[in-house]
Amino acid sequence: MCGVAAGDPDPFGTERTVRLTMGHIIDKSKGGDDSPQNLRAVCTNCNEGLQNTGLPKPDQIHLLAQVRRATIDDQRAVLNWLLQKFKLKVVE
Ligand SMILES: [Zn+2]
Repeated sequence: MCGVAAGDPDPFGTERTVRLTMGHIIDKSKGGDDSPQNLRAVCTNCNEGLQNTGLPKPDQIHLLAQVRRATIDDQRAVLNWLLQKFKLKVVE
């Protein structure tokens, strides 16, 4: 929901890393069930409702600006994450 992955540093600034858990897409209080179609991996913060209000999705211009301002190491980390996500390889 918030975009973090298992093992990322906890965005709430604790020394923990993010753990994923199963969450309901439609909450059981709203008639959702335990079927696989109604379950998804969510981080514990989202599952506990800490981020149910949702961080706004970054828009492209600000996101690119953030990446441009990041250190080379962080840009590399973003690149590697994208390469993995889209199953691509850098040809050197
Ligand atoms: Zn989350």
